[in-house]
Amino acid sequence: MAKISFKHLPKPHKWTITFLTGILLVLVFVPSEPVSAYKNTPVPVLELGKRYDLAVDFDNLPEAQITAFDSAVERKMVKVKKGDNLAKIFNRAGLTPQETYRVSKMKDHADKLINLLPGESLGLEIDNEGKLKSISYMYSPTETLIINRNENNGFSGHVESKPVETRLNYTQGEVFNSFWNAGLKANLSESQIMNLANIFGWDIDFALELRAGDSFSVMFEEHFIDGEFVENGDIVAAQFINQGETYTAIRHSDGTFYTPEGRSLRKSFLRAPVNFKYISSNFNPNRFHPIQKRYKPHNGIDYRAAKGTPVVAAGDGKVIEAGYNRFNGNYVFIQHGETYVTKYLHFSKTAVKNGAKVKQGQVIGYVGATGMAEAPHLHYEFLVDGVHRNPRTVALPKALPIEPSEAKAFASIAQERLLQLNNNKRIMLAMN
Ligand SMILES: [Zn+2]
Repeated sequence: MAKISFKHLPKPHKWTITFLTGILLVLVFVPSEPVSAYKNTPVPVLELGKRYDLAVDFDNLPEAQITAFDSAVERKMVKVKKGDNLAKIFNRAGLTPQETYRVSKMKDHADKLINLLPGESLGLEIDNEGKLKSISYMYSPTETLIINRNENNGFSGHVESKPVETRLNYTQGEVFNSFWNAGLKANLSESQIMNLANIFGWDIDFALELRAGDSFSVMFEEHFIDGEFVENGDIVAAQFINQGETYTAIRHSDGTFYTPEGRSLRKSFLRAPVNFKYISSNFNPNRFHPIQKRYKPHNGIDYRAAKGTPVVAAGDGKVIEAGYNRFNGNYVFIQHGETYVTKYLHFSKTAVKNGAKVKQGQVIGYVGATGMAEAPHLHYEFLVDGVHRNPRTVALPKALPIEPSEAKAFASIAQERLLQLNNNKRIMLAMN
């Protein structure tokens, strides 16, 4: 056989061979999978113009796949107005009274919809037949109540909670003219200022005994959700320097405050039977005493405050006298155990009856100017075994120490907190 060389072939033959080689190459390199996949299934031949059943079982679709139908659901945010209730809100949203009834008969969490507050919002989903599908109600920064219509045409609810992150913050301040202003200047909230006064209320008379130059430092928790501040948490440690004396309070995990040595800050007697924020003579060196000084030696402390200011029992005890006379005006005497009696005079109105048992901090009357008093004030007396004493200087029963079983756990908390307090103070000092 004679050898045939490609380049010696006639032109049309060359074209034909090139073309066939190309087709062969295409067949070799095209993947074969798609072909084999359809190998055993007959190719459906659909006729034009004919109707075919789709193999979708609408009655048994998994719920997760029905979201596409939500375009038929109307979503509304409705604001709670003053004097609103669920029925009124549903009515405004175009829902029937039956829907209100069904939601109120819900087994769990229905109670949360009873006390809706003005300004709150309800998210409603209503389908195109006007039926309520769901409610979402964020009743706290961390908790949202989700209510869904169930298969029995009723409703069921569950709560979704967001995790709260707690961080520690620190502040400090110095008293110039009032503790209240000093607290605000230190960026404490009003309730934090009150809490601080309450924590030290057994040791320090915030109403009369603060002096310019007194100072405080506070460590407190802050709560964050999704990285955003939502609210203040508890005070965890605090220090107050009053007239050169340092008082320290550390919060134990049970919420009680102790000194770093583990003595309770809670004592038998409050330093002042009136809340400091009502006292108008915080820094007045000329103590108000209008009349009685002239008639008899002054055996008590006067707290000048507006008429109607609540006065509380300095300690637990029993009311041994509650009445009126022309000297004391409306007055209350309280016996505390065997040894102590406290007296409260010039009330505009008393709040307890003779013989009543009272708790420390319980309101027993309201500041007034009845009896021998020219202006509204509380005259407060403290007697030990029948003798008038100065409640600021008299030795009082010692506070109880922490339970022995808790002592070790508290000691480590206290150590850590003191360290943090001192570190923060040092940082602030370096910054100033
Ligand atoms: Zn007096």
